[in-house]
Amino acid sequence: MTLSLPQHYREILVGLGEDPDREGLLDTPKRAAKAMQYLCHGYEQSVEDIVNGALFASDNDEMVIVKDIELYSLCEHHLLPFIGKAHVAYIPTGKVLGLSKIARIVDMFARRLQIQENLTRQIADTIREVTSAAGVAVVIEAQHMCMMMRGVEKQNSTMITSVMLGAFRDSSTTRQEFLQLIGRSK
Ligand SMILES: [Zn+2]
Repeated sequence: MTLSLPQHYREILVGLGEDPDREGLLDTPKRAAKAMQYLCHGYEQSVEDIVNGALFASDNDEMVIVKDIELYSLCEHHLLPFIGKAHVAYIPTGKVLGLSKIARIVDMFARRLQIQENLTRQIADTIREVTSAAGVAVVIEAQHMCMMMRGVEKQNSTMITSVMLGAFRDSSTTRQEFLQLIGRSK
């Protein structure tokens, strides 16, 4: 017999030594299950659904940047949040993606259990696949609750990951331009 998600949360409360039948906790298993399902709703989304035809012909071949995309994810090692910003750029080759779609692709992968390195790579690979871009760059800066609230308890450390594909990897000028535009170059 498998337990439902709320039943699992009830067991977690018992495991923590709590009384799941005390008044304040009565609805907690249900609420916590609902919250966790929301935080992981990226599993129910697909790239096809998100892009949904919002790919437009364009002869622009200049860098397109969307920066400071809010990011909320859960680390797969501790199930604790990591929170930060993603900066995404690509160089189109005939096709541009609707602007909000880039943020939604970030969100789809962030709303799954993740490590920041894989999240960065999945976003970059997906944008490259969808747009056939000449280059894609993704930088994520995030703070991890599993570092801040437990373990080393480092409150002010930010983890920065980046993936550079195509022109961003091959040309230091292109890479520099991107880093400058997101405020990350010296
Ligand atoms: Zn963690």
